[in-house]
Amino acid sequence: MSRLHNASAPMCRGAAFLLGAATLLAGCAVGPPATPDGRITVVTTTTVLADIVRQVAGEHATVHALVPAGTDVHTFDPAPSDAIKVDRASLLVINGLGLDDWLIDFARQSGAADTPLVELAEDLPTVTYLEGGEHADEEPPSASEPASADEHVYNPHLWLNVAYARLYVARLAEQLAAVDPDSAADYQANASAYDARLAELDTKIRGELAAVAPEDRRIVSFHDAFPYFAAAYGLEIVGVLVEMPGQEPSAAEVAAVIGAIRAAGVRVVLAESQFSDALAQTVAQETGAQVVSRLYTDSLGDPPVDTYEGAMRWNVEQILAGLR
Ligand SMILES: [Zn+2]
Repeated sequence: MSRLHNASAPMCRGAAFLLGAATLLAGCAVGPPATPDGRITVVTTTTVLADIVRQVAGEHATVHALVPAGTDVHTFDPAPSDAIKVDRASLLVINGLGLDDWLIDFARQSGAADTPLVELAEDLPTVTYLEGGEHADEEPPSASEPASADEHVYNPHLWLNVAYARLYVARLAEQLAAVDPDSAADYQANASAYDARLAELDTKIRGELAAVAPEDRRIVSFHDAFPYFAAAYGLEIVGVLVEMPGQEPSAAEVAAVIGAIRAAGVRVVLAESQFSDALAQTVAQETGAQVVSRLYTDSLGDPPVDTYEGAMRWNVEQILAGLR
């Protein structure tokens, strides 16, 4: 696997060597394996990342998200049939930071060990990384492999700050150009136009949330998806209902969140489309807070939330309605 943060030349794909003598004699093909319509294939983990890739790639790529809309990425297990999509990809795109790193091993097992893979959220310049990851799939540190003191576990949900999503766009334009240099100018042009729209959206969200009194901007969310959103747009996160998706909170943890909501006068509990909102409803009934249902954090949905921009607009509208 070539894990890329910066542009680099496309690499020879290991799978090509398995196809037979003709392939072996021909050696390593240069350039991406394009589909019959001349498009490259990009495989991402989430529908959010797939949309961002589509905006930058335009007509030059066919994009597949492995995690279906409405399904939790944190606890997702790819199916054997996903290996075919991964093996045919010219570029693999993940968020990284523990959200969807399962694709790294899966690609290795799928014969795509040498396919370029970009981790959009890793080591981005100008980002203030926030602690608190959800490495549900990873083994806890053991005696033989203790966690080092300077090993940080960062929250992976950078894209919910639109300014950070713009950094994903810039990185994607570079990576797409690296695997498909013939279309580099188009990738750059698409990225510039998209970036301008995202800059406008970022400013709009900032203005809308600034209009809410600071003492009314306290929230509790279902899982810990909102720290970058909150930091960017001036919200205060008082608590989360589940520490890690896929795990049930204990009665004591629920009681602690209920206590925190009462103490801070939290008005809204944010529920998300890919999770049941039953726990949020229970907590809201106990505290008099309001549930803001069906927010789109790690997954997109049907129009108008079938794009990243649409989902961000929708989320902000719902949150504002709840806070007022
Ligand atoms: Zn998440």
